[in-house]
Amino acid sequence: MTNFLEKDNEKNDKIIEVFHPSWFNYFGLFFLCGISIAITVILFLFNFQVWSYFFIFVTVLIFLSVVFSRLTYTYTVTSNSVRCRIGIIAREESEIRMNDIREVGVRQGAGQRIFGIGDVYFASAGTNGVEVIFEGVRAPTTIRDEVNELRDSIETSDKKRCPQCGEFIWIKAKVCPHCYYAFNGK
Ligand SMILES: [Zn+2]
Repeated sequence: MTNFLEKDNEKNDKIIEVFHPSWFNYFGLFFLCGISIAITVILFLFNFQVWSYFFIFVTVLIFLSVVFSRLTYTYTVTSNSVRCRIGIIAREESEIRMNDIREVGVRQGAGQRIFGIGDVYFASAGTNGVEVIFEGVRAPTTIRDEVNELRDSIETSDKKRCPQCGEFIWIKAKVCPHCYYAFNGK
């Protein structure tokens, strides 16, 4: 029974949004790029051409590392879950299902606030720790509100709360899968 419901759940899973960290998340590295370009120009003007080529190489290297590390982090919001994937080839993925999310929050450092970016974290029920974090994403409060809205709509559309254990379960369930509370045809 549980398996069937879980498969049904996966089938209806639609990808709503896919994020990477904001380019502004790497402002430190872009600042280094700027310094490196300035050094390149100065060296070129003073005829240290070989050194200026070296700094062009350094600039490109820093820029590529930004592109690469940004692509390493992929954050996905689907109709049923939030996911964080780290890695391009070897992948590490963490996921929280919408109805297991207990808390959605935003953390913004002073630097992040200037650029309108921040971390969105999703804490799941059951464990005390934060399980999925969208780090350095643009418009973090909008993402938080969207996920909260999705979660609320799932809870009200096809879920009900078990009066005995408080878990959200499928509205058609006649017996709670967590505590075996019987609904008696309600
Ligand atoms: Zn229950």
